[in-house]
Amino acid sequence: MRIGHSYDIHRLESNRDLILGGINIPYHLGLLGHSDADCLLHAIAESLLGSLALGDLGTHFPDTDPKYKGVDSTILLKESYDLVKKKGYTLGNLDCMIYCEAPKLKPHINSMRDNIALLLETSVDNISIKATTFEKLGPIGNNQAIASECTCLVYKKEKFLKYL
Ligand code: MG
Repeated sequence: MRIGHSYDIHRLESNRDLILGGINIPYHLGLLGHSDADCLLHAIAESLLGSLALGDLGTHFPDTDPKYKGVDSTILLKESYDLVKKKGYTLGNLDCMIYCEAPKLKPHINSMRDNIALLLETSVDNISIKATTFEKLGPIGNNQAIASECTCLVYKKEKFLKYL
């Protein structure tokens, strides 16, 4: 078994869609970035890469590459997980935090979990997403940014089964 971790933050700006966990959330501000700036999917993808010491997200998907301009982050997540699967590993579970002052994310959390479970070909029970505010402190608390963090566990299937 191996563990991975990542953190990502993006600035909130007007004239952008707010996409988190692959879900389009109605709001007057959205996250700014070279891709669709989905900081939750970025943290998940990078924690998966990290679990096998495969480097960071920027190494695999450089923000200087026009190919990734406006890219749907579900593609980055799937491609990152493909690299994990190629090494013979499968996702056990992942646990995420979203740090966000507004909008309220509670009504969207289960849609995000369903979507991510589908993308990672796993049960929704393996996908934990929590959200909290920053108590109006700092750039996140002042609604200038949203950040996400993810810890994941992957395992090599054949080795793991020996112990069951
Ligand atoms: Mg990012």
